Amino acid sequence: MRSAFGPRSGDHEFQAMRFALDPNDKQRGALASHSGAARYAYNLGLEWLIEAIERRKLDASESVPNNSFVTSRRAKRGGKRFGFPRFKCKGRSRDRFRLSGFFHVDKRWVQLPTLGRIRVHEDASKFMRHLESGRARITTATISRQADRWYVNFRVVRTKRAIERPPGSAVIGVDVGINALATLSSGQVVTGPRALAVGLRKLRRLSRAHSRKRLKSRNRRRFAQRLARCHARISSVRRDHLHKLSTYLAKNHGRIVIEDLNVQAMMSNRRLARSIADSGWGELSAMLEYKCRWYGSTLIQASRWFPSSKTCSSCGLIKDSLPLAVRVFDCPACGLTLDRDVNAAKNLAKWPEVAASASETQNACRGNVRPGVRRAGPDEAGTEQPIVASGSEPNAQALAFTADSLGPDEGRVARGI
Ligand SMILES: [Zn+2]
Repeated sequence: MRSAFGPRSGDHEFQAMRFALDPNDKQRGALASHSGAARYAYNLGLEWLIEAIERRKLDASESVPNNSFVTSRRAKRGGKRFGFPRFKCKGRSRDRFRLSGFFHVDKRWVQLPTLGRIRVHEDASKFMRHLESGRARITTATISRQADRWYVNFRVVRTKRAIERPPGSAVIGVDVGINALATLSSGQVVTGPRALAVGLRKLRRLSRAHSRKRLKSRNRRRFAQRLARCHARISSVRRDHLHKLSTYLAKNHGRIVIEDLNVQAMMSNRRLARSIADSGWGELSAMLEYKCRWYGSTLIQASRWFPSSKTCSSCGLIKDSLPLAVRVFDCPACGLTLDRDVNAAKNLAKWPEVAASASETQNACRGNVRPGVRRAGPDEAGTEQPIVASGSEPNAQALAFTADSLGPDEGRVARGI
């Protein structure tokens, strides 16, 4: 059955469905050459752009094609400004291309335009039934490679899901870390699965080994591949747990508060641990954003200058500094002793009140300038912590997710678009 017909009512939403592919050798070759073609087309477009810019230097009436770089430079586009686009080259850019046309999804294979039938790694029956019933329709598909595995990511239009029960008005603060995936203001510590801790140890070892191999040697290439596989595995394990966590949060809480991390500042810090925490934070906040929309809850981002780790969640005292190595918050004023991350999460849960009382003193730049609220220092976010840290505190109770804590629709949701 083709999936070209879809939801008839205007009430629809977008969703992405991602499947790992099991292509045979011939298909692997085809996927690689499609990526090559996409790269070539991109480079050709970039060449035209550069030529047009050169021509305009001589003749001001020449027009230059619209491009994202210019909108960024003129600050018409949000986010970090980016530099002039660079040419893509094999091996250094992501293998990825997009397809449109007719798609067909069956239990164990997908049919893609020009590429034909490719086996999928997991059972796609549920998605197939959605498409057959007309509740969902595929618009485009993006094929990409991560380490040595290919994925197809379908962009799907589907009928809006009904909100079964409103999640109420309960507020929960979420502090995102590395080894503990997240700490909640309720005192729950969401620890990553063992596979994650093992993976992170392996990653450290592999990246050390890789960096010691002679440049451009075959051995270095071999290690680069192993390192990529390790990275890919960690991010899959992590993503799986973040999905379970974000679904739990969005379905059971009315208001969810997370930090608004200064992503740009964090990107400039190249330390491994920090970038991993950052990616976990980015993914969790993206998942929460669309899941809150699905389930009728609200996502609140606390100001990035809100010193959630340094503030006492009991009396409000703000410490001057709190090195990352210090895992327990001891308050000299009221005697509170609490796990560092639980304390931070509790402060985040209070953020809606703080923001409400500070709204009158906000300055034109919309920075939080409530007098007395100190800027979060460099040790504030992106927590780096020893593996033993959380979970051993009296207030911390481990929160374990099992596959059946998921709603029926959550199995393979990748990322809302
Ligand atoms: Zn205190």
